[in-house]
Amino acid sequence: MEHDPGGPGDSRASRQADGSTPAAPRPGAETARQADYTGFRRYLKTHHRRTHERLYTIAREIERRTDCRACVRCCRETVVEVTSEDIERIARTLGLGVDETRRRYTTPEPGDLRHWLLRNEHDACIFLEGNLCSIYDGRPGPCRDFPHVTGGAHTLGSRIESICRHAEFCPILEQALDAYEHACGYARR
Ligand code: SF4
Ligand code: SF4
Repeated sequence: MEHDPGGPGDSRASRQADGSTPAAPRPGAETARQADYTGFRRYLKTHHRRTHERLYTIAREIERRTDCRACVRCCRETVVEVTSEDIERIARTLGLGVDETRRRYTTPEPGDLRHWLLRNEHDACIFLEGNLCSIYDGRPGPCRDFPHVTGGAHTLGSRIESICRHAEFCPILEQALDAYEHACGYARR
């Protein structure tokens, strides 16, 4: 996938139970699509499918042929939690001090002042310029990893929950789940 100049293809995060720091979609009421995914997750559970290598294979192939610069929804639809290391890397990229970078480009997480989020401006990440990430080489960890289609060491059971959640806005994950539902023989109601 062309994560490149756009940066997106990466995105925003808040820490998850599986430790994967995936994106945190803006809150809202459950949609019909989310209800579909809830049904699919139940189906996987009742059919004792606890590993999802097939899903990752499908998703990696879709990711490979996706140009994220034509999408950048993850840079618009979510918020990114940043660590001190992320802020230091952004500061180096911008040639600014760490305190100034934190002050100008981050904001404390509402209700949890120990965590910091990248600021949003005009309903998108402050670093999104057109369809490009202006700090691509110094982008935060969650932006590098999104949409988490590599298996990795984290619990796959919790990963499927976050993948379903992120499929609400990420076409790579949406297409991958559609194909995986089909491969599993799951029929939506
Ligand atoms: S939402 Fe998904 S497809 Fe769109 S830019 Fe982000 S990773 Fe790529
Ligand atoms: S830093 Fe902002 S613009 Fe860059 S990839 Fe992350 S969310 Fe997108």
